Amino acid sequence: MEPMGVYVHFPWCLKKCPYCDFVSFAATRDGLEHDRYADAILGELAQRSESLAGRSLATVFFGGGTPSLWEPRALGRVLDAIKAAAGRLAGDLEITVECNPSSLDEDRARALVDVGVNRLSVGVQGTDAERLEFLGRLHGAEGGLAAVRAAIRAGVPRVSADLIYGVSTPAPGSGPRYLAGAPTREQTPREAAEEARRVAETGVTHVSAYSLTIEPGTQFGELSRRGKLPVASEEVVADAFFAIEDALGSAGLLHYEISNYARPGDEARHNLGYWRGHDYLGLGCAAFGTVSRPDGAAVRYRNGTDPARYMRAALAGELSVESEEPLDAETRLRERIMLGLRLREGFDLERSARELGVPAWTDARKRAAERLQARGKLVIEDGHVRVPREAWVLADGIAAELF
Ligand code: SF4
Repeated sequence: MEPMGVYVHFPWCLKKCPYCDFVSFAATRDGLEHDRYADAILGELAQRSESLAGRSLATVFFGGGTPSLWEPRALGRVLDAIKAAAGRLAGDLEITVECNPSSLDEDRARALVDVGVNRLSVGVQGTDAERLEFLGRLHGAEGGLAAVRAAIRAGVPRVSADLIYGVSTPAPGSGPRYLAGAPTREQTPREAAEEARRVAETGVTHVSAYSLTIEPGTQFGELSRRGKLPVASEEVVADAFFAIEDALGSAGLLHYEISNYARPGDEARHNLGYWRGHDYLGLGCAAFGTVSRPDGAAVRYRNGTDPARYMRAALAGELSVESEEPLDAETRLRERIMLGLRLREGFDLERSARELGVPAWTDARKRAAERLQARGKLVIEDGHVRVPREAWVLADGIAAELF
């Protein structure tokens, strides 16, 4: 079977960002139950360890929330237990921790390396003070870059930075409250490129660049519903996307997935596992996991989203599951199409279909593929499909046509 990843969710942050729809709750570092949360995850792992036994463990990803708030010693205990539960460890086992600049300095980065972490993903998000404040970030213009440099000085082998682009802010002098139609300040392509260039110059091996999306249920979602949030036009977002691609490409960071860039060989292997449809075990409050069964079907589950309830259940030796959904082989193939087409290299549709035991080319899919090929939006070579770069920004719609 394919190698497997493990995702561990840490559901706390120093402050909730207004655009964020991840499960995360505001907390202080001192107020967190570092060891109790680790013990709870060990309890859950004991219940789920059967899914890991006999499998090769390729990646472990601590995400959140802000897992850099977690005491490295407690995080290290969880990491050791995951490694011990796996059948085999991949020689190049990738262990990532997501970090916020406000909770990462050189000492903390070194402590994470000491417990076995070899990759940090730092939420830089930008280098413009006004935009960072609008996004509710706790760090200023230089804070993200300083955190990345600290991680590199501490000897973290691979450091990734996150960027958010396509952020429109109220025009300077227009006061803190925005009303629909009021003047805005847009991020110019030159500014987007400059921010990307400054991040690349730190020596990061990987950058994830996401356009700001407004999610329902968030503070930004509510403001947008009431017409009180400036929103960048599609043109501003597309211009920033290409400006960032140029800037990062010139710095040797290659665009390998719609939102991701890396030096060759430094692609995020954990995320590649998601995009290629590999299994991953999810641990922790609100974590998702997908585990295959021998017949090509799989189960996707999500743990309960209340940290106190999650910990109580896990410490009592019970699973706290919010939902569990069987995924049949056809659904899994559709997911692989959706995610595989986000990769520059595309993916081998015929091989995926063979692995899952379903036909690759239904009549409807074949007709859709021919239409897309004729319009220059899909390339098919020996069963391998990909979206050419010019049509990349349309990948989600193209994938949907192939369902
Ligand atoms: S720090 Fe990250 S996870 Fe936490 S609220 Fe902000 S965006 Fe969400």
